[in-house]
Amino acid sequence: MKTREYYSSNSSDPDVYHDHSDCPTGQQIPTRNKLYGRGGHVRCKQCIDKG
Ligand SMILES: [Zn+2]
Repeated sequence: MKTREYYSSNSSDPDVYHDHSDCPTGQQIPTRNKLYGRGGHVRCKQCIDKG
């Protein structure tokens, strides 16, 4: 489901932001690394596919 934009603060993760709470890549971001916003990244491909 659509959610507030978020991304990972871990530099080894892909430079993308997510906007779906059920994105498989987004779900792998641990809470401590989860930041809200876009972080200057492009939108996650899997999130784009979800609409
Ligand atoms: Zn995503």
